[in-house]
Amino acid sequence: MSAPRVSFVSLGCPKALVDSERIVTRLRAEGYEIARKHDGADLVVVNTCGFLDSARDESLDAIGNALSENGRVIVTGCLGAEPEVIRQRHPNVLAITGPQAYESVMAAVHEAVPPKHDPLIDLLPPQGVKLTPRHYAYLKISEGCNNRCTFCIIPSLRGDLVSRPAADVLREAERLAKAGVKEIMVISQDTSAYGIDLKYAESQYGDRTVRAKFYDLAKELGDLGIWVRLHYVYPYPHVTEVIPLMAEGKILPYLDIPFQHASPAVLKNMRRPAHGEKTLERIRSWREACPDLAIRSTFIVGFPGETEKDFELLLDWLSEAKIERAGCFKYEPVKGARSNDLGLPELPQEVKESRWHRFMQRQQKVSAAQQQKKVGKRLPVIIDEANGTAGKGRTKYDAPEIDGAVHITSRRPLRAGEIVTVKIDRADAYDLYGQAV
Ligand code: SF4
Repeated sequence: MSAPRVSFVSLGCPKALVDSERIVTRLRAEGYEIARKHDGADLVVVNTCGFLDSARDESLDAIGNALSENGRVIVTGCLGAEPEVIRQRHPNVLAITGPQAYESVMAAVHEAVPPKHDPLIDLLPPQGVKLTPRHYAYLKISEGCNNRCTFCIIPSLRGDLVSRPAADVLREAERLAKAGVKEIMVISQDTSAYGIDLKYAESQYGDRTVRAKFYDLAKELGDLGIWVRLHYVYPYPHVTEVIPLMAEGKILPYLDIPFQHASPAVLKNMRRPAHGEKTLERIRSWREACPDLAIRSTFIVGFPGETEKDFELLLDWLSEAKIERAGCFKYEPVKGARSNDLGLPELPQEVKESRWHRFMQRQQKVSAAQQQKKVGKRLPVIIDEANGTAGKGRTKYDAPEIDGAVHITSRRPLRAGEIVTVKIDRADAYDLYGQAV
């Protein structure tokens, strides 16, 4: 299964470039590949300019080229505000949308070439494919993965790690911030491995050079003055370096680390990166350096050969690690995954089911206790949805789509994208409730 490929043409002024950037960021995050040529791509998106006659001609020519070289074309941007002009010359374009219409462009792309959502390999949750509000964006820093976890087929589908040069990533992040994005979610298959393939090469960003390295990138992103959240970080020793950036408030005190299990035997069978690391000790030292660090993770229960003892070890780990959020999946033998051929016994479905329930129960208690600690505090909350004086938002400790929400009432009208201080009145295992102050 290869990723759908979209070729992108960006014409026009810096504002149009920001639009292009947002659309490309979104496409990348959803698993589309950006093709270098029209030929061979599944689709072409042309972001047009309609300001001057020459720009209109250039736009119409670019659409014509895309149609002859590819045939499947979506038009967006300023000239898209005059669909009749485009239809007259090029009746066969698939869809036309106007400037800053990210949502409609993405809807047209989804219709023409549906995103291949596969819960096993995607970085975004299924509901993440819905359109991102304009105040947050996913920033993909690399593609592929050098690890070979036995349950995972990403490396065989997407290949080894290919990191984007640091300057490239930073320019995209800067443009997003300028376009009004208030929160960036850094994503990749293995964020802490960023730059290994480039041998941490330096690239020119503004007046300085920046290394393609996890810490350097996090530090630079932290200087943008917006919320920066790190996803898919593995507990390699060098992760400790970014904790001070969190303690200083440069990047959000949040780590999404897919631990997958706690039993050394299971982790070994999974061939997890950093499986030998003493994760409990590591978490303890991170929390010492940054007391309000929130950790979210995902786990797999019922991996072949997982014994009751292995599983109990995982439950104990949960009680001790006290991570804020944990998702849990029942192991599934994915076609092509090496875990099917390890010669380990597959567990009966009812065992997987019951372990899943036991896991959820245990973690729910932990999460609820962590949530209770926030009651009475005044926390900055980013508003995701506003409806007059009521709204829904998130604290620094919660990522969109996957973590909990804060339900807010306010004396003045709320706006999506603003960051307000909320006094937390109560909590349940997932969500918080409070008033804007
Ligand atoms: S780290 Fe493991 S699970 Fe994650 S993409 Fe790489 S091989 Fe797959």
